[in-house]
Amino acid sequence: MSNIQCKDSNKSYNLRVKKYLPGGIHYNFNLPWEETPLHFSSTKGSRVIDLNGKEYLDLYARFGAMIVGHGNEYYSNMLKACIDRVLSVSHCDLDAEILEMISQFVPCAEMIRFGLSGTEIVQAALRVARAYTGRNKFIRFENHYHGNADNIMGGRPKSKEHPYPEDYLGDIKGTLGRADNIMYDQSYLLPWNDIEILTKFVEENHKEIAAIITEPVCVNGGSIMPVDGYLQKMRILCDKYGIVLIFDEIITGFRMGLGGAQAEFDVIPDLATLGKALSGGGVPVSALVGKKELMQLIVEKRVIHGGTFNGYPLGTYAIKATLDLLSANSGNLYKKMEENIIKIQNSLLARAKAVGLPLIIQGPPSCSAYHCTDKKLSSPAEYNFEIMSMDIILNNNLAKEGILVSTMSRLYPNITLNDQDVKWFDERVNSALIKTKKIYDEINE
Ligand code: PMP
Repeated sequence: MSNIQCKDSNKSYNLRVKKYLPGGIHYNFNLPWEETPLHFSSTKGSRVIDLNGKEYLDLYARFGAMIVGHGNEYYSNMLKACIDRVLSVSHCDLDAEILEMISQFVPCAEMIRFGLSGTEIVQAALRVARAYTGRNKFIRFENHYHGNADNIMGGRPKSKEHPYPEDYLGDIKGTLGRADNIMYDQSYLLPWNDIEILTKFVEENHKEIAAIITEPVCVNGGSIMPVDGYLQKMRILCDKYGIVLIFDEIITGFRMGLGGAQAEFDVIPDLATLGKALSGGGVPVSALVGKKELMQLIVEKRVIHGGTFNGYPLGTYAIKATLDLLSANSGNLYKKMEENIIKIQNSLLARAKAVGLPLIIQGPPSCSAYHCTDKKLSSPAEYNFEIMSMDIILNNNLAKEGILVSTMSRLYPNITLNDQDVKWFDERVNSALIKTKKIYDEINE
């Protein structure tokens, strides 16, 4: 195990950090147990150990990014090779290999540009779409997340007839500093998974719509699968009205398989965004991939795309290591990863049933979510406050038992997940469920 020497306990370390770091944490999307964030000193495979020496099964996986497992030897060696050879040049000797690999695996990836964060690469996609169509607005969907930018974050449609983003749990007016009109000026916000609403809206407004952007599986809204034919019909609508279809595959890309959701559903978008798992989770890389006809605008410099660290060697080496691992033996590691997370899901389902806590699991095995309710969610609007609150309570109780789950209730496996990890989960989940059921009963009395 790699080890950072630190003499503090988790609590005393937090006090040191909190003095300078707002909230003591690097982002605002934190879970209750992160109010006193854990700091980790060593990691291996699917396990992380905090400063108190407490061990956890890590299904949090840095919001799903870490798909190769902690301390993966092949991955680490590749990064070390980069450090020894080409750490700080702007173009390195693996560019061609990784571009060819991504293009081979991801159906729409005729051309590729790299960035660092999902947030910035989504904005690059929108820029290309606007330039290509000469139109200004884009359609996005309720409870989808496309990054931390003013024009695209949060909101809820007031009604089907009123598809403008409205204040939701204070996320627009309640958080300060966001430009006033940018959301209204740039985007329409529609309910997801309802082709009739989308069709009607596009028929009436297509002249101003440059793009439709969607997570192909609404992972951020509770890992909700598209209903049969939804993405296909979205594709047809875009073709009919000259609208650019953007799949935000920051989560699903290289998690749902080498070709991401677009390969899984056999719906090829015009542009897609990749991030997180693309570089294995150790270092940040994102990518805008798309059809040549659109990416040509960047070639011709009619659309600008900048970034000091775009294509930086460490990220490039990380992508090479990740894609080597994921594509080895015809993607065998995906199969193993999915088998193991399904065992974990089954354990959670069976033990929840035994203690009488309503619980379902939905979404693709590689990015599924549990929900404390008895019916699968079919649209993000169904992910209501009651379900979300219980999900978070269970998440919190799981953390106390040594199982880390991502926001709100997402289970992110990695390729090193093994039988011992399944056993670890099975031995600890019961206590978390019993505590959660007690709270559930108190609330529902
Ligand atoms: N798109 C999706 C679908 C995401 O899940 C995220 C991050 N959770 C982003 C975009 C933004 O990526 P980043 O946090 O790297 O800016």
